Parts: sequence; structure tokens; C-alpha cells
Amino acid sequence: MAEENHSTIENIIILGTGPAGLAAALYAARADLKPLLLTGTEIGGQAALTDRIENYPGFPEGVGGAELADLFQKNAERFGARLEYDTATEVDLSQRPFTIKTYSKEFQARTLIITTGASPNKLNVRGEKELRGKGVSYCATCDGWFFKNKDVAVVGGGDSALEEAIFLTRYAKTVTIIHRRDELRAGAILQKRAKNNPKISFIWNSVVEEIQGSEGVERLKLKNVKDGNTEMFETSGIFVFIGHNPNTQLFKGQLEIDKQGYLIVDQLMNTNVAGVFAAGEVCDAHFRQVITSAGMGAAAAISATRLLESEAD
Ligand code: NAP
Repeated sequence: MAEENHSTIENIIILGTGPAGLAAALYAARADLKPLLLTGTEIGGQAALTDRIENYPGFPEGVGGAELADLFQKNAERFGARLEYDTATEVDLSQRPFTIKTYSKEFQARTLIITTGASPNKLNVRGEKELRGKGVSYCATCDGWFFKNKDVAVVGGGDSALEEAIFLTRYAKTVTIIHRRDELRAGAILQKRAKNNPKISFIWNSVVEEIQGSEGVERLKLKNVKDGNTEMFETSGIFVFIGHNPNTQLFKGQLEIDKQGYLIVDQLMNTNVAGVFAAGEVCDAHFRQVITSAGMGAAAAISATRLLESEAD
């Protein structure tokens, strides 16, 4: 009955435009389903904020993150995917077609593919919120340029922290990586590059307890986790790369979510609600690569297409 009340019911709505969303859009578009993507605020997802991507096959010299996102988008649009520059604010998944409200409109969809990705974790220390955009950053590609010839700190010991620290050496005078252990989590190649970079140094076994400054970041209060000693560390900027949190707020109470906050999907990218699929970092705590997210997006679109085809029979 609900279908009769709305003039347009979309076959597939995709939430998000990271690699998972855009790959899903490409596959759904090539199945002639004219998918609609609600972009959210960050077009291209986290990949678009990455300076260079060297592990996406087909680009032996590497490719810029924003450039790759743009190519993904063009590829999907060429086959009829439509982008709506709006953000979903509410979803009702209790009956099909599903209802998706945005800031300005309401949509109905026979199937939904959720690719809302993940957002950077915060340190949750004093000064972080107040000095965000004034020296506290979560994106070196976005903000690195502002730190020309300055001293900056990077927090974290994973691939993101090292990759972004290496990127920051283009601008900064020095880059100090502050890590809570004395062993890095990052892969061997990045470790080697960072350790061989003369602008990069490390502070081990330390956590940031407070970020201080008036107009901008001036210093960090660091605590050594081994002996409990604290020290002040002078710096103009702090870049935080301590993992991510999946963007699942919108679906709480409607979809199954695991203890870490990720959407639970099966092998075919089905959530627990028939017709709702998920792909990419919103449901992936393990791989978080452009290629794996894109692969999951394609798989979700194939599953959605098969469901729609079976219902049309
Ligand atoms: P990650 O691998 O989860 O690393 C997070 C880092 O932050 C860890 O070193 C962790 O310390 C530290 N950390 C976490 N919470 C902290 C806190 N409250 N205070 C201080 N330090 C904290 O996250 P990621 O580096 O963003 O990488 C995410 C995924 O993307 C990974 O699978 C990674 O391989 C992938 N990735 C790949 C590439 C690439 O292939 N080039 C680039 C970027 C990301 P511990 O080590 O002590 O846990």
C-alpha cells in the first residue's frame, strides 16, 4: 500500500560516496537500476582525503586519493548513477519501501545500501575540541599546508599515522610521532620510510593528556605510560590518527550492530533487514582498504540487484 502513496520509489538508494558507495553505484547503474546516492558531507570518503594511494591495482605509479574518487564517480555517472548532494538524517527500515529523510526531502527505496563509512577517533582530552581547526587536525592532506616550516606532532602508530606523518614532512620543519607503545602497528614499508626520514622523530610509550594554547596549539602535555612522568612538548600542530569509529548512529535500534559499533552483515552483504545491505568501513573492522571497500560495494549492489530481479519475477 505504501508504494501507492509515493510517486517515485527508487530501486536502490546508496548512503555515502566513498569507494564502497561509488562501486555499488557503478554496479547498480550497469544493472540499469539508476541508483540514487545521497552523498553526505564527505564526497569520496576517507580515500579522497588521502594524498596518494599506492595499493589500488591498475595504478603502478600510485594515484591521488581525490583523483581516484573522482574517477570512481565519473565511472558510476557514465552508466546512470545520480548523486544528490544531501545528507540522510533519519531512516525507517520497518517496512518496504524504506523511508529515508534528508535535511530537505523524503525518499522511498525498495533497497538500501549503507556505505556511511567511519569517522576519525578523537583523543577526548582537554583542549582538543577548543583548538580543533586551530592546530588540532585529523587530516594531513587537508591541513598540512598550514604548517609550513613549523614543528608538528602526529599521534598514533598505525598505517594512517605514518603515512600522514611522511606526507607532513613536505611542509613541516619537524614531525614528531607520539605513540603509546614502543612498537609500531604500521606495515613494514611505511615503518622503514618513516624511520629513514630525517624530519621524523619518535616519542615512545607516551600519550597526550592535554592540548594547550590560546589562539592556536602551543604545547602538549605528555605522559609517559611506563613511569607516569609528565612533560610539556612545544608544537604548533597536532594530527591525530588513532583509528576510526563506524558511522552507524542512524541505524541504532533498527539494524544489528556489533560491540564495536559496526553493522553486522553476512557474506552477501545482507544486514538483518531484508533489502538493506551494507558495505565498506561501516561494516568492516578488519580490512579498511580502498580495494576491499570497493569490492564489498560491488557485492552489495549485486545482491540488491538479485533481490529486485527475484521480486520482479
Ligand atoms: P589502526 O591501525 O587502528 O591504528 C591506530 C593507532 O592508534 C594504533 O597504533 C593505536 O595504538 C593508536 N591508538 C588507538 N587509540 C589510541 C589512543 N586513545 N591514544 C593513543 N593512541 C591510540 O588505525 P589506522 O592507522 O587508521 O588504520 C586503519 C586501517 O586502515 C588499518 O587496517 C590500516 O592497515 C589501514 N590503512 C592502510 C593504509 C595503507 O595500506 N597504506 C593506510 C592507512 C590505513 P596501538 O598500536 O597501541 O593499538
